[in-house]
Amino acid sequence: MPVHMADSQRDTVGPYNRMSASQANAYKACPRLWFYQKVYRFKMPQIPVLFVGRAVEEAVCRVLRDSPGFVAANSSHDALGPSPYHENGEPCTGQEQSWPAVGLMPFFPNERPQSKDELQTWATQRAGVHLPPALKRMQEQWEKDERKAGDWSDVDPKRCLDMVVSAIDFHLDEVERCFKGKGGPGLDAWRQGQREAWPAPDGFPHEPFTAGHPLAGEGEVSWTEAWEISRPWFVDPDAPSFTMNAIHPDHWFQGEYDLVYRWAGTPVIVDLKASVGANDRSGDYVDQLNIYAMLWHVTHQRAEEVSGLQIWYLGHPSIKTIDVPSLKEMEAIEREMKELWDLLKAEPPSRDDCPPEPKPMRGFDPGGKATEAPDESRCERCDWHDVCPGGAGTDERRLSSSVQLPGASQQTPLQDIGVLNPRATVRGELFSVGYVKNGVPLKMMLKQGTNTAHIQVVSTSQSDGSPTVAVQAMKGVKVLVKDAVFTINWKGEIVLKMDPFSQLVADEDPSIDSFDLFDYQAKHNVGGTVVYTYEKSGVGKTGKAWSRKGLMLMDHSGACKVEGWADDWNHQYTMLEAGDVVAIGNLGLDAWASEVRCDYTRNSRLQIIERVERSAA
Ligand code: SF4
Repeated sequence: MPVHMADSQRDTVGPYNRMSASQANAYKACPRLWFYQKVYRFKMPQIPVLFVGRAVEEAVCRVLRDSPGFVAANSSHDALGPSPYHENGEPCTGQEQSWPAVGLMPFFPNERPQSKDELQTWATQRAGVHLPPALKRMQEQWEKDERKAGDWSDVDPKRCLDMVVSAIDFHLDEVERCFKGKGGPGLDAWRQGQREAWPAPDGFPHEPFTAGHPLAGEGEVSWTEAWEISRPWFVDPDAPSFTMNAIHPDHWFQGEYDLVYRWAGTPVIVDLKASVGANDRSGDYVDQLNIYAMLWHVTHQRAEEVSGLQIWYLGHPSIKTIDVPSLKEMEAIEREMKELWDLLKAEPPSRDDCPPEPKPMRGFDPGGKATEAPDESRCERCDWHDVCPGGAGTDERRLSSSVQLPGASQQTPLQDIGVLNPRATVRGELFSVGYVKNGVPLKMMLKQGTNTAHIQVVSTSQSDGSPTVAVQAMKGVKVLVKDAVFTINWKGEIVLKMDPFSQLVADEDPSIDSFDLFDYQAKHNVGGTVVYTYEKSGVGKTGKAWSRKGLMLMDHSGACKVEGWADDWNHQYTMLEAGDVVAIGNLGLDAWASEVRCDYTRNSRLQIIERVERSAA
């Protein structure tokens, strides 16, 4: 099966700590690059082309999901509604929910495409129907992204459609092979209604058809049957995000295939690339497919191997075929991936464990054809050039432990970002229990001596799935708020936020240390190098527009986001550029899981201490 879910009883790794092909490639390209993006969580600029690739892939999948036996060429994009899945990605059964293709009236055989050309006309029209809503969804996502960069008006819908049509044309060649191969070895089983254990998404439930496939014919295979039989598996665009993974039996690796053809009896894995394939990354794609061959093998009891690996470059319509690795090579790939997991994931490595040592660039012509390497270093175009020692930055401390801010009578001491800790465990008594949703109180008041604090439950489950509120919450109950995030609300009151790393339990173990609410340090000062600035805005539930601004800040010990309402930032914010050295005083702290964030309020202060050389533009 292309999807292998985690075994929750045995999974000690968890969904956020698995290795993936893209992480392995990022680390191999440059260990420091991996560190910045995965440990410090730097986010690269989100240019439209990244979103266009997802829209093209979605449109391809939606055309593949349609059937020329049920859906007319000019039907609306939602003619075949979304398929029902459980939250964890498991498909609902036909009994649990109705599936969109069940009950659709098949066209009469003479109303269906009678040739490859007719099938192509139908599929091309479907591509034109599915692409615009996919592009619109992606444009909305891009617009909401705090790291959005570039200009959406540069997106050429005609070029996007050409890429979708190229993918469909490659698929039609596969349909033709299936047609000429008389439907392949599975024709009779398919006609009888048998289904793969995890079939290609087609709007039908995963169970077999008891009365045969509704589009089954007799005698020679028809073009519509060939379309149905050869349909590859792909991630159903309506399945919950990130659930269609193949997870290594020992849970330390996961990958998500694009297309898997199975009609000929052995699987062929295809990776879709909405690009020309003429840059360094084309080398990564080859590694990625080799890794996927290993993943397929190990997730099939090491008894099955893929028979083909292909990269479809849709920006320069061409198929690059990759040699399938041998068993021995797959063993070596698996060993290498496990070693990387041990190195990078078992325990997070330190910055010094991830040196700024980039691999030389590789050269590729359109279609991913290897050519001479370009005469440039990886650092020249790296997004982190301005702050990394491989570029114009440094690992060293840029500011001393205290700075003299203009107008201040004394030096302002700075804290190391790496040791900022917004969490503490607090012992107390529940004083009141407020808003309850689905049986879980989301707001409570804690009393500790004469001090009080609000408890705000922002996540009802911990990262391992267990509840964050693990006590009968009633007035007078003695509790421990474990690893709560200390924040201050606009009235200056302490709010203990409970996220997936926190838990409210009965206070039964007096040996556990408790933090004194009175000792809470509300304000912090930090300083370092600006990695980038970002902005986000939207409209709240009440219809009121909101706008927030922030920056990613790095010092010699760590990195964190500093974020606040747009109006609260002083005028120096508008002058910031990546590489500037700043001090920021009077910040609150906040956190979500392992990410620590500083809160900039109207009482905070940003001061540029040293500026990078400005570009002449
Ligand atoms: S600037 Fe160079 S060394 Fe630094 S992260 Fe980028 S590629 Fe790696």
